[in-house]
Amino acid sequence: MLSSTFLTLKMKIAPLIDIDDSKLDSILNNIEKREKGALVYIEAITRLGQIDRNIAIELLVLLVKEKLLIPTYKIYCPECRESSKKTYSNINEALKEGVCETCANDVCQIHDLNAIDFLFQKC
Ligand SMILES: [Zn+2]
Repeated sequence: MLSSTFLTLKMKIAPLIDIDDSKLDSILNNIEKREKGALVYIEAITRLGQIDRNIAIELLVLLVKEKLLIPTYKIYCPECRESSKKTYSNINEALKEGVCETCANDVCQIHDLNAIDFLFQKC
């Protein structure tokens, strides 16, 4: 069951996005149960709601507008296919650091947004 705050939020965003009511419910319910600061991955929301990745991103961006989530970034190493444990609040900060925690590969030499993992954090 969603709290009244989340129900209000749902009523506000439901007309703006093409997601079944029950799927939107389960996604919002999942996000509501998480603690402040919890990381929210696009892939997890895609799987949870069984929705397209683009729709998941659309929903997450709406939740950013509603100040429920903030965007955050990790360094993704194309060499060992690991994401950093550390998160960054902006892309430049991540690119500046740009070294893989696992294999020390200089991710920034790639100069590529593929070296960045886009995710969200609960406010
Ligand atoms: Zn690596």
